[in-house]
Formats: sequence, structure tokens, C-alpha cells
Amino acid sequence: MSNEAANCLFCKIRDGEIPGTIVFRDERCVAFKDIAPRAPMHTLIIPTEHIGLAKDLGHAEAGYRVVLNCNADAGQTVFHVHAHLLAGRVMGWPPG
Ligand code: 5GP
Ligand code: ZN
Repeated sequence: MSNEAANCLFCKIRDGEIPGTIVFRDERCVAFKDIAPRAPMHTLIIPTEHIGLAKDLGHAEAGYRVVLNCNADAGQTVFHVHAHLLAGRVMGWPPG
């Protein structure tokens, strides 16, 4: 386990070392209620494994963006929930 994972709050919630309200769990992901909800329903969804994906791909330092497009107005075309990991160029804000 990396140092980063050993000190990770969410890994501790996943492992029951810190209390959390888990609403879903399987071998791939864990979902739990945010401690300071910003909406009537605010759930955090994490991969069960602490993944440093952007770091492993060499894009963590310069920066990257993770996007979930949700339904037609956001541009979603394939309706199986998925995250886009975008890196390798400067990104504009707000996204178009
Ligand atoms: P971030 O700022 O990394 O995008 O989101 C972190 C989220 O974790 C925040 O919404 C924050 O409220 C939540 N959070 C921080 N500490 C705890 C905790 O101890 N338990 C739970 N369930 N959520 C937490
Ligand atoms: Zn973690």
C-alpha cells in the first residue's frame, strides 16, 4: 500500500476505521454519504482500490480533468455511467 493510501480518509471509511454511512459496496466501488452534504442527496462514490491513475499515466503534476456527462443536455451519448479522464493540454473553463 502506498503512503498516500495509508493516510487516506476515504480508504479508512472504506475499511471501517472511520465511521461512515455506506449506502453501497461491492468489490469495485463503495458509496457513502458526504459528511457535509451540499444537496439533499450527496453521496461520494469511490473505487474500492485507491487508484493514482493520472499519476500512473504521467499527467498528475501538470493537471487533468475528470468529467461525468449526465444525460442529453450534458452531451452524454452512451448511457452507461463513465468518467472521462482528460489531460495533455490546457483546459478552458467553463467547458462547452
Ligand atoms: P473534495 O473536496 O475532495 O472534492 O471532496 C471531499 C468530500 O469529502 C467533501 O464533500 C467533504 O464534505 C467530504 N468529507 C470530508 N471528510 C469526511 C468524512 O470524515 N466523512 C465523510 N463521509 N465525508 C467527508
Ligand atoms: Zn484512499
